Amino acid sequence: MNNGRITLLNSQHETLTSFLDSHPDGHEKAAVVLFRRLHIPVEGLEDSDRYIAKEIIPFEESWVSGSSPVYIAFKLASLRNLFRRCEEEGLVFGFVHNHPGGPTEFSTVDDENEITLLTALRNRNGNNITFVAMLWANGKWVARTRRANAPEVAIPVRHTLVLSNRLHLYGYRESSADHSEMQARQAAAFGRPFVDMLQSLRVAVVGCGGTGSPLATLLARSGIGELVQIDKDTLAKSNLNRVRGLRAADVGENKARALKEFIDSIGLSVKVAAFESEVDNDPVALDALASCDVVFGCTDDYAGRGVMSTALYVYAQLLIDVGLGGRVHGDLDGQPVLRYHFGRISSILPEAGQCLFCQDVVRDVWIRTQQARRENPEITEEELKERYLEDGGTGAPGVGPFTSATADFAIATLFDLIKPFRRFPLALRKDMYIVDFVTMEIRSYQVEEKPDCPYCRQREFLLMKEVYRLNQPYLGKRDEFT
Ligand SMILES: [Zn+2]
Ligand SMILES: [Zn+2]
Repeated sequence: MNNGRITLLNSQHETLTSFLDSHPDGHEKAAVVLFRRLHIPVEGLEDSDRYIAKEIIPFEESWVSGSSPVYIAFKLASLRNLFRRCEEEGLVFGFVHNHPGGPTEFSTVDDENEITLLTALRNRNGNNITFVAMLWANGKWVARTRRANAPEVAIPVRHTLVLSNRLHLYGYRESSADHSEMQARQAAAFGRPFVDMLQSLRVAVVGCGGTGSPLATLLARSGIGELVQIDKDTLAKSNLNRVRGLRAADVGENKARALKEFIDSIGLSVKVAAFESEVDNDPVALDALASCDVVFGCTDDYAGRGVMSTALYVYAQLLIDVGLGGRVHGDLDGQPVLRYHFGRISSILPEAGQCLFCQDVVRDVWIRTQQARRENPEITEEELKERYLEDGGTGAPGVGPFTSATADFAIATLFDLIKPFRRFPLALRKDMYIVDFVTMEIRSYQVEEKPDCPYCRQREFLLMKEVYRLNQPYLGKRDEFT
């Protein structure tokens, strides 16, 4: 059973719900949502397609043949054009309606309507298609899918996720008793629905070192349902001062896989998939990333950050990116002195927050420099200068309590985006703050607004139609509609 996940941007959610609720006499209304379906099996995780809303099409008056507060009838012929678009553009047809006076679940009439719609759709577009039905009732979304080869089987979705300046989840499953006891303390702080929401999410952790390993470990313990861990590197002895769950015996092993082994051994309900690779040059890892609702960036790799900062718009995700910065000077005796040291937590949503480029966390020139070094490890500073290339940021010394604390702040940021509890002072930005371990302050820094930013301002990448993965030909094509 493939329990899909639906994602709507807040602007789409607002358009839909205000239209559905707009009948002067409280009649039912209907709309079509065209979805992009990401069908990406990830080894070790349950199949769960992502349905990302691309376009909202409210029913025109002329399409409706009759309505009341408890029903809506329409002319199938009005939808033919949209059926054709689904076939031509590889989109999934979604039928949306509301129940202004209840019930809050699909009715038997809805069953019949969906089967009629899907049959018409199948007759035109073939047997290998999927259909989505969404119901808006009592301020909540309920949704399910059907396959053309078995129209009578309604498959509930795992959840419907609306991305605004936070995460809103609807229709998630209630957790089992065993899970409930493990999460009792968290439920006491944030409520039972919060625990169930965490259980419903698929979360990527990119980079499984100093910040990634404590982060993944605590995400698993906090009740996240599925983790996708991606790291190309092997564990070094010098990592052992700060990683979690990794042992001296794992030195030389791949960090993502060794961490999966540890998390699997804890005895939690979380399912973990591990990839020994990088998102910026491995299509399989990028696909696994695209299958996630939430991404944690825990790498100091600029190309990887560039990919994640683009992916959040194309795949409609929350990105929480974590980084550390610092500088060590010498004292009179030549002993090191930590002059400054901080952890940065950035959280960016498709319609909220500045992208990582605008936050000056990653620059194109830093990515190009990294690529130049990768192609030619011998390249000299002189040669880099000649090509106008430069490295970014400042190196952080990699001290355990600071990497762990930053990871903990990042997880608390996810919690706050699911169940807001923080009261931000005016001087703090919601999309980026730093925890300064030397001055003992939490603060944000302002960066110049870039109105022409293609990511967060012009939104050129938002729900972009991909010819190749993220339209990077070197990453290859994805066959997602099979
Ligand atoms: Zn209905
Ligand atoms: Zn930007």
